[in-house]
Amino acid sequence: MLALAGKVAIVTGASSGIGRATARLFAEQGARVVVAARRQHELDTLVSEVTATGAEAVALAGDVRDEAFAKRLAGTAVERFGGLDVAFNNAGVFGELTPTLDRSIEDWQDVLATNLTSAFLGAKHQIPVMLQRGGGSIIFTSSFVGCGIGLPGAGAYAASKAGIVGLMQVLAAELGDRGIRANAILPGGVDTPMNMANAPDAGPEVQEFVNGLHAVKRIASPEEIAQSVLYLASDASSFVTGEAHRVDGGVSISRN
Ligand code: NAP
Repeated sequence: MLALAGKVAIVTGASSGIGRATARLFAEQGARVVVAARRQHELDTLVSEVTATGAEAVALAGDVRDEAFAKRLAGTAVERFGGLDVAFNNAGVFGELTPTLDRSIEDWQDVLATNLTSAFLGAKHQIPVMLQRGGGSIIFTSSFVGCGIGLPGAGAYAASKAGIVGLMQVLAAELGDRGIRANAILPGGVDTPMNMANAPDAGPEVQEFVNGLHAVKRIASPEEIAQSVLYLASDASSFVTGEAHRVDGGVSISRN
């Protein structure tokens, strides 16, 4: 039996990277998926890929900083697929890589709005819909940055990712007795456009540096991260809630 047979899922940040890989895996595992991000074309190609396999997906383009979008996203799951069981709130930005004392308030607010306020808005509109079906699994993307590792230059990003863990733990405590499980994944470096190893000006020495931070001496593929999200989404993790789940190749325990 497929891990998400009969389930309906929302995935944000699905136009690229971890979100895209997770949406594909969810669909492969039987879920009907609502995929969200700002770039319509990337979402459309994802929907085509998913539907070509015989699975079902629908795209909704919009901005996760916008509460009206969060509401429409949850509404789309109900209108198109009859309800909601799983939400992966994953959209994020890194912001400026700059010392904290030099950071602009605009960048601070944008990173907090995109990464953290969006998680609150997602939960606020997804969970009531999940409760109509007796519960569900909500998953957020945090990071090793901000959760044990103080990466210089990443102050706004770290604050947003630590905030996600706090929000997730409160949701788990508030809603556990109503069938809602809330968890976060804390990836290490992942091979996506966001990773500094993939910056246009990053040479082999940057890639080597980033790889070397991890105990396993490499970064992850988005598909490896998606497997952990699938675990948290599925009934295989039925007794797991309030968990900050590291999927980080040992970056948080490595000293190099
Ligand atoms: P990515 O490929 O750059 O994906 C980021 C996604 O977020 C894109 O789909 C982007 O879509 C979406 N997004 C950004 N701002 C948005 C907004 N305002 N509204 C709607 N969607 C928005 O990077 P990724 O690595 O897969 O990132 C996914 C998550 O993993 C992020 O939360 C990131 O912080 C986290 N993470 C990444 C790493 C890493 O090394 N890559 C490590 C730890 C944690 P559009 O541009 O189309 O809107």
